[in-house]
Amino acid sequence: MTKNFVLASGNAHKAQEFGELFPKEILNIEAAPNKLDVIEDGKTFRDNALLKAEAYYKKLGVPVLADDSGLVVAALPDELGIHSARFGGDGLTDKDRAFLLLDRMKEEENRAAYFVCVLCFYLNEKEVYFFEGRVEGSIGPLYQGDKGFGYDPVFIPADGEGSLTMAQLPDWKNIHSHRAVACRYAKDFFASK
Ligand code: IMP
Repeated sequence: MTKNFVLASGNAHKAQEFGELFPKEILNIEAAPNKLDVIEDGKTFRDNALLKAEAYYKKLGVPVLADDSGLVVAALPDELGIHSARFGGDGLTDKDRAFLLLDRMKEEENRAAYFVCVLCFYLNEKEVYFFEGRVEGSIGPLYQGDKGFGYDPVFIPADGEGSLTMAQLPDWKNIHSHRAVACRYAKDFFASK
């Protein structure tokens, strides 16, 4: 039987993307009627996904899906991660942030990094499920590729194609991204529930 969830985000495009990652007969994801301003002051991706899910559940009283994602860079442990969207401060574009990251990594030998996505399915106060997907890789030397978004042009997946960035591998990303992996875990779980 289909389970319905409202996405804890004001972004209709994101709801559509999640809608496409899940078969409708298992999980149906709808956009939230209104965006809520949730203060994401958790210490982990999981905390922040839960904060968003709880806020939307309290407001709407229906099952909610929340997600939180980012890029974890081994050499800059406190600057990206849960702060990825704000790296370098306010007023920067995605492209500015990617170039800033290249600059900060100029002299760095340890280039290891991974993308992570945590999904929180909040059915009610007693039933909450988390799923996590990761893509391991490294920060490349250059900004390359024009697909995807965010840090894709500077991230080289370890299991991709040589030195191509995630912004040069859109088909690969659709199947193997942190988001796709987390969604697969969720889909398998709800299909068997
Ligand atoms: P959020 O999930 O919208 O909070 O995303 C946090 C930040 O992580 C985004 O602003 C991006 O900078 C980065 N990010 C998350 N997923 C991706 C991805 O698939 N590609 C590139 N950047 C990403």
